[in-house]
Amino acid sequence: MALSYWEKDYYGQIDFAILGCGIVGLATAIHLKKAEPNANVVVIDRSWPPHGASTKNAGFVCFGSPTEIMDDIQTNGPEIAMNIFEKRWLGRETLFSMVDTTNLDYEQIGGLELFEKLDLPEEHEIQYLNQLIYNKIGVNDYFEYVDNTDFPNFNNKAILASKEGRINPMKLILALKSQADQLGVKFLIKEVIAIDRTNKGLVFDQDTSLPYGKLLVTLNAFATRYLPEMQDLKAARNVVLVTSPLKNFNLNHVVHIDKGYIYMRMIGNRILLGGARNKFLNTEFTDEIKVNPEIINYLKAFLKDKFSSNENFEIEASWSGILGVGSNKNPIIEKVDHCTYVGVRMGGMGVAIGALVGRQLATLAIQN
Ligand SMILES: Cc1cc2nc3c(=O)[nH]c(=O)nc-3n(C[C@H](O)[C@H](O)[C@H](O)COP(=O)(O)OP(=O)(O)OC[C@H]3O[C@@H](n4cnc5c(N)ncnc54)[C@H](O)[C@@H]3O)c2cc1C
Repeated sequence: MALSYWEKDYYGQIDFAILGCGIVGLATAIHLKKAEPNANVVVIDRSWPPHGASTKNAGFVCFGSPTEIMDDIQTNGPEIAMNIFEKRWLGRETLFSMVDTTNLDYEQIGGLELFEKLDLPEEHEIQYLNQLIYNKIGVNDYFEYVDNTDFPNFNNKAILASKEGRINPMKLILALKSQADQLGVKFLIKEVIAIDRTNKGLVFDQDTSLPYGKLLVTLNAFATRYLPEMQDLKAARNVVLVTSPLKNFNLNHVVHIDKGYIYMRMIGNRILLGGARNKFLNTEFTDEIKVNPEIINYLKAFLKDKFSSNENFEIEASWSGILGVGSNKNPIIEKVDHCTYVGVRMGGMGVAIGALVGRQLATLAIQN
């Protein structure tokens, strides 16, 4: 449906169009407007709340569990793995310099990794990780062994990263949106069906397109639909469930299991449990936002078996969201043609890293 005269007049001549209203898109808009207050900045998304991952995630403010980082080191080497770790660390700093976390249910309660009985990393491996982390961010003894007396189906030792925490992702997005509103960022809720890069226009249907000066694409994995050069970017679906309230179960930390592929936290007295996409590789590399019932059954069984809860519970909610992944976990922040920029591939830690990506993307688009 074509935009009216009034609507076109409101959007005016767009200096920076940001496609995607997740954490990266909003952070980008805020940084652009702060750096260039007179610029006309418009964020476009197909829906509100945004329909990607930023309001569907588990709300871990995390940097990587020991086995996840060890896996990254094995795949990409220590330098790349540690650079990514540092970006997450700096990303949290950037995010917390932008929002007041007291209203976002933020709690730095620590991240705990639980292990199968025989899988506990050896002390020299944790010392090695701690040394690498110290060299990068100057924090001593980042990981520490602690006793696990609560969950007897796991190793009686666990590893704690006390700097991790949890947040309410919806409140975080609302806080960023409200800041963008105050700065004068404009919003358009409409699905883009194509990007006309030759004529510099976002196409909504055959009658409607929106011209832009510079385009910043923050669609995460959905970018592959519109930018064919995004070869090292893949959509991966992640499923989450929330149980009914439980009387006799608690987690004092956010919990990682199996290289971060499984994650758990409390929301009040409910459990949020998600992940396990590594067990369903044939079906989960997709950007279709749908819940695979097999994964829900897997997660339900996992909860019953591993946490031996005698308490009955219902699954009160389940949903899915889409991650952007690739051959490594470094976000892609690039200029892809004379006026198109991308900030994508947040992996499973966009909450920590997203604000930094937004800042770097805004700077790139302003300077180039
Ligand atoms: C289930 C789940 C749990 C997670 N848990 C955590 C966690 O605990 N901690 C953490 O750090 N990270 C977590 N993540 C990852 C994190 O949520 C993402 O890395 C982050 O939200 C990505 O932000 P983004 O802004 O790049 O993309 P998104 O938030 O995905 O935003 C992309 C936007 O593009 C829009 N869009 C797509 N196509 C179009 C179109 N054609 N036209 C207009 N708009 C379009 C979408 O509606 C969407 O709003 C999780 C992800 C999932 C799916």
